[in-house]
Amino acid sequence: MTQRIAIIGSGMAGLAAAWFLGDAHHITLFERQPRLGIGAHSVQAPGGVVDVPLRVIYPGYYPELFALLAEAGVAVEALDASLGFSDLGGASYFRYRNLHALGKTLPWVTPATWLRREPQQVLFDLARFLWQAPQALATGALADRTIGDYLDRQSYSSAFTDRFLIPAFAGINTVSCQAVREYPAELIAQYFNRGFVVSSVYRAVGGAHAIAQALSARVAQLRLNARIRSVHRQARGVAITMEDGSVETFDAVVFATQANQVRAMLDDASPAERVVLEAVRYDAVRVVMHHDARLMPAARADWGPVNYMLSPQFDRPMVSIWVNRLLPAYQDPRPLFQTINPMLEPAAEWVLQDCRLQRPIVDLATQANLQKLDALHAQPQRRVFFCGAYAAQGIPLLESAVASAHRLLAAASKVH
Ligand SMILES: Cc1cc2nc3c(=O)[nH]c(=O)nc-3n(C[C@H](O)[C@H](O)[C@H](O)COP(=O)(O)OP(=O)(O)OC[C@H]3O[C@@H](n4cnc5c(N)ncnc54)[C@H](O)[C@@H]3O)c2cc1C
Repeated sequence: MTQRIAIIGSGMAGLAAAWFLGDAHHITLFERQPRLGIGAHSVQAPGGVVDVPLRVIYPGYYPELFALLAEAGVAVEALDASLGFSDLGGASYFRYRNLHALGKTLPWVTPATWLRREPQQVLFDLARFLWQAPQALATGALADRTIGDYLDRQSYSSAFTDRFLIPAFAGINTVSCQAVREYPAELIAQYFNRGFVVSSVYRAVGGAHAIAQALSARVAQLRLNARIRSVHRQARGVAITMEDGSVETFDAVVFATQANQVRAMLDDASPAERVVLEAVRYDAVRVVMHHDARLMPAARADWGPVNYMLSPQFDRPMVSIWVNRLLPAYQDPRPLFQTINPMLEPAAEWVLQDCRLQRPIVDLATQANLQKLDALHAQPQRRVFFCGAYAAQGIPLLESAVASAHRLLAAASKVH
């Protein structure tokens, strides 16, 4: 039976939910931003529109997202997103380039890099990790263990642990290095195990805008600049009250916002819902678009598409993306950078945009929390649902946002 469903939030999860549910139901999509949320922070730069943040994906870890993009007719393009690592203000200590052959990408390390001790240690331990971690995953030896604990017990070198793997994941998850140490070892092993090292990385052609256009096609009513005051359940539906006092009732409501944003809206959250939502913690992320090359590796020869910079004073890497190198369609001679968590301030006159975001923190407890969320969704007569990157197993990325939305299909079919 066709239901009237409200989806609150139009990031990746809300748009995916609108696509999956919009096939059979009447969807009203609420977004508090003036644009669909997935592209709400994209910026018009001299060489074209640039997504903030820039998001990359690879097939092995993103099966549901790739399937969704194909179904909705969104093309993808391969990118060179190879990584380089340097000390802030110093020389690069490890980097690789990508060679593309036979549909595969092979990381290639220059002979000069091989000659130095630190990169040798990183490469030796990386090979060991790629050999050992899948076996430990398969035997269940990583269950209920943090990645920090696993790396310490297996005596991986500090060069590999503290100067490569932990900061790399602190960049991918945009959380602190300490938070990565507390990450479930299984999740990080899975991320590598699904072909990360040899897979090309991709993005949607046209970026967030193309995804938003395609996935919003099944939305019956779009409410941008929506100001929701509260959401509460009634005997036969769920009422949404707007700031202007108007009230609309739906058969079901899907919250596709961050967990900490649900709490401000859902008036009648049950104790069990509060436990699940409050267990999701967030870390602040700053993303700056700018032209200031001081936030890049000191030597221009060390610049790559994605540049990690470490400093003993900071517990998280600064990651500067060289937009001109990463995005094939970006056409402007002046270098443009997207810096995540800057360690020094870019010159104000060279800043295009300064954006504050949040990212969920994952640990062993949050994985158990997801089982409680599944139990909530399985309750009979349920009319309020939750999806988002935080709400499915795995690293909170575009894939988990889509997976969490996909699972709502079964739950929504039970709404009467
Ligand atoms: C710096 C950075 C880099 C990243 N890089 C990658 C990457 O390379 N690959 C990858 O897969 N992922 C990446 N991610 C993660 C990815 O962007 C997120 O996991 C994903 O976008 C989360 O989608 P979501 O729909 O769950 O949440 P959100 O994108 O947070 O969407 C929630 C939406 O709800 C809206 N909203 C909130 N409150 C209300 C309200 N009261 N009323 C109406 N609307 C409301 C918000 O405006 C927003 O549009 C990155 C994230 C960051 C911060």
